[in-house]
Amino acid sequence: MKPPFLLYHKIDLPTEDVKIRGAFTAPQKFEKQLSYLTKRGFTFYTASELIKYYNSHGAFPEKSAAITFDDGWKDNYANAFPILQKYNAKATIFLVPSCIGQTTAKVTADGEGTREHLSESDILEMSKGGIEFGSHSVNHKLFHQISEREIEFEVTESKKTIENLTQKECSVFAYPAGFFTDFAKDKIKNAGFIAAFTTVYGSEEKLDPFEINRIEILRRDGYPFHFGRKIKRNLLDYNI
Ligand SMILES: [Zn+2]
Repeated sequence: MKPPFLLYHKIDLPTEDVKIRGAFTAPQKFEKQLSYLTKRGFTFYTASELIKYYNSHGAFPEKSAAITFDDGWKDNYANAFPILQKYNAKATIFLVPSCIGQTTAKVTADGEGTREHLSESDILEMSKGGIEFGSHSVNHKLFHQISEREIEFEVTESKKTIENLTQKECSVFAYPAGFFTDFAKDKIKNAGFIAAFTTVYGSEEKLDPFEINRIEILRRDGYPFHFGRKIKRNLLDYNI
């Protein structure tokens, strides 16, 4: 069983130039997935709410899930936010502060064009509407490829920038592309974060709050059968 954190990137249809289409979930499919989980009695929490609950109870609440999004794309506001509100679902978005308000290729895959990120006003509106903002580092550099000094900067500066913007605590971190080092884990802990998320690289055996795996929902999971199977396989203990 994996901890109940779902990972999405873009809630949109892929454009022509896109080579890696897996990180796109069609808005219509995203809504079906929320509906699927809602009908089965799931409650959606922010990532930090679930971590705090786990820290005081030693387990996650029954039938709980946290929806998370990496990279802070504009489509999270334009397409995902209205659906999240319709289902009264909280969620967590991991921002790359150097990309806020930018249309850039900084976080897109090699050979892809630019793409629009969330603006400051999008973030503030969502922050009032139940969305938590975590850090995905300042520049989205891969932590196993940069110096310790750079890692420290990426961790502490991103926290500061996001807190200055939202005026709320930024307490959760997501490693760029999921890569982490022991040094990065320590820095994140010391900076005051309560958890850090990977994609598939974390330990399956026991929950280490600074290398938590997430269940990545890909484009092919748009088919209800795929999504249902993935949810059942990973959240089986909850007796869906
Ligand atoms: Zn990312």
